[in-house]
Amino acid sequence: MIISIRSQADSDERAQLMALLCRVIDARQPITTTHVDGRDVIVLAGGALDEQSSVLLKQQSAVECLLALKTPYQLVSRAFKPEGSSIVVGKQTGGNPVTIGSERGAPVIIAGPCSVEGREQILANAAAVKAAGAHILRGGAFKPRTSPYQFHGLGLEGLELLAEARAATGLPVITEVMEPGMVETVAQYADILQIGSRNMQNYSLLQAAGRNSQQRPVMLKRGFAATIDEWLLAAEYVVAAGNPDVILCERGIRSFDTHTRNVLDLTCVPLLHELTHLPIIVDPSHATGRRELVPMMSRAAIAAGADGLILEAHLDPESAVSDGRQTITIERLQGIVRQTSMIARIMQESDIEQVA
Ligand code: PEP
Ligand code: MN
Repeated sequence: MIISIRSQADSDERAQLMALLCRVIDARQPITTTHVDGRDVIVLAGGALDEQSSVLLKQQSAVECLLALKTPYQLVSRAFKPEGSSIVVGKQTGGNPVTIGSERGAPVIIAGPCSVEGREQILANAAAVKAAGAHILRGGAFKPRTSPYQFHGLGLEGLELLAEARAATGLPVITEVMEPGMVETVAQYADILQIGSRNMQNYSLLQAAGRNSQQRPVMLKRGFAATIDEWLLAAEYVVAAGNPDVILCERGIRSFDTHTRNVLDLTCVPLLHELTHLPIIVDPSHATGRRELVPMMSRAAIAAGADGLILEAHLDPESAVSDGRQTITIERLQGIVRQTSMIARIMQESDIEQVA
């Protein structure tokens, strides 16, 4: 249940409301107060109140409205914000601002190498992906790797190089943060904090990203064995901690077949648009693990209604230090930018969605 507080409510009215809440709910039940979309809200776990208590709450002068939701996630649900979220990135860091979500016409394209490998590599690749039509630069500085003996990224130096690439190209940058103690440092450099698949349920990381003092948006990748509800609840952690700017990223889930690295769950895209107001990005690179499948899956993702794509692209994919097998060339990237914006335009101009 979400209780929206009237913005004019004074401290006495708010205290009265809290006193009533403490009386009507189970004492072990947490009461979460947060601020989203310019309003103070109180969130209780779904179905926390009986009919009589709801009536009492509605009579409180501090209460604007009550929203009783049956879903376990609350603030990220479509019912809370029917119009859909749009997130602007890049404004505060001097990059060219980019909108992600419902207000944007063409799909947003995030592209770049899996890892920042060195100064020349990231500057040359940033310029190349920009020329190919990408809007945001990706590159890992802190890399979660399956083996302890693989390349784990350049760390802080990688963050500095990403900031240099942004200054040179104007592209906002996205990079992964792996631990709560590094959130503030990464947020000083990055326009978007990426939380990776392996960390989707790292709750202290989600809360730290939700509280980051720079208010950087978070792109939350789906855990490779996460259900949609688990994923939305992970997003809810970030929003409940005070950061409404969350972008979901479908990057494939694990299954039994070994031909592809993961299974790209495109069904989740239209489903999520029903369940949540958050923007949805698709990552066909990690989903397939094979560069030859990336263009087709990119087109399919946009046709399924994704708000954009994140693609691993490199001037020389064969030489990439990590994930070269799934990394596309810059020419391929250019083709995907062109084709996906055509598909999005056709979908907007026609009545495809209405007749579906
Ligand atoms: C990445 O995007 O660099 C990455 C590690 O992806 P994932 O968390 O989806 O495996
Ligand atoms: Mn990668």
